[in-house]
Amino acid sequence: MSDRPFTAAAFDQFLSEGKLMASRCLTCGAVHLPPRAICPTCFGESLEWIETMGRGALAAYTAIAIGPAAMQAAGYTRENPYVSGLVTLEEGPTISALILGVDARHPESIRIGQPLVAGYEPIGGRTVLAFRPAGT
Ligand SMILES: [Zn+2]
Repeated sequence: MSDRPFTAAAFDQFLSEGKLMASRCLTCGAVHLPPRAICPTCFGESLEWIETMGRGALAAYTAIAIGPAAMQAAGYTRENPYVSGLVTLEEGPTISALILGVDARHPESIRIGQPLVAGYEPIGGRTVLAFRPAGT
């Protein structure tokens, strides 16, 4: 699908194109997200890029009131916190991402297992992976 190297820069480039890409090991079939250049399951070095469906479920989360400079510049403050979470994709792997469309001021209202869909947000001069509740 792509001959790009399995690097964070290539992963970020795909995000900027609106694609959530993972690496899949051609030896054992394991799917990795973020992508890996060497399979951590079988140490195989033959991998391919696959485009995920961008659908998953919330596995864990936290509300962040004092974030890094890029998030503060994007308007996320003590008065306007944001949620960071772990999302387990339908393809198997789990990835950390921004979680939008949930109430960060009332994080007790957020449900583990909630279905989410991937989106792509420009923050701090780059494209950030951001999931939202499915159907919103
Ligand atoms: Zn493998």
